[in-house]
Amino acid sequence: MRVLVVEDETRMAEFINKGLTEAGYAVDIAEDGERGLAWTNVVDYDLIILDIMLPRRDGLDVCRTLRARGNQTLILMLTARDAVEDRVLGLDSGADDYLVKPFSFAELVARLRALARREPVLTGPVLEIADLTLDTRTREVTRAGTPIELTNKAYALLEYLMRHPNQVLTRTMIGEHIWNYDFDNATNVIDVHIRYLRKAVDDPFEPKLIQTVRGAGYRISDQAPMS
Ligand code: CA
Repeated sequence: MRVLVVEDETRMAEFINKGLTEAGYAVDIAEDGERGLAWTNVVDYDLIILDIMLPRRDGLDVCRTLRARGNQTLILMLTARDAVEDRVLGLDSGADDYLVKPFSFAELVARLRALARREPVLTGPVLEIADLTLDTRTREVTRAGTPIELTNKAYALLEYLMRHPNQVLTRTMIGEHIWNYDFDNATNVIDVHIRYLRKAVDDPFEPKLIQTVRGAGYRISDQAPMS
């Protein structure tokens, strides 16, 4: 999951960045509304965490502008405590949810997971392909009922693949969604993680679900591999 955090308070931005990175998200930070909007022109984010009080362009304005442009990215707005009006304005401006400062990190992650589950591709919190399951609430992965332990990045990669079943995901798409935008030389690292994932979720089982699509990228599917 690739997340944009638009927040001018450095400590708050760093708190969110650190926690989300540890949780396996790829995070970009924008320090004001103008820069936040600029990032959305370059990257197709899965989620945007948007503070309301921002220099240059406030969060409400950024949110309205994104929606007016047809951008449907999930937006979680951060509002100051007791500012009930802000929450109403935030939701009216097109945000999907809001979180009141100060908040615990656990609460933030729970909200993000709940938001991600609203994606139309999904039918519920548990993603399934053949006998492989991934529970986005508990981050538990099983194959044929056997629990599988994964690193944070491998989990994030598997979740991204499973959110787009049967679709070819290029290394660029994978790199952008799982690692940071300025992540260089992604190909090698992605291939290493794919090998690791295959070892964990495919090697002991049939059919093999993680497929290489020659010259294009990877996909997860229980259909016959593309030739
Ligand atoms: Ca602020």
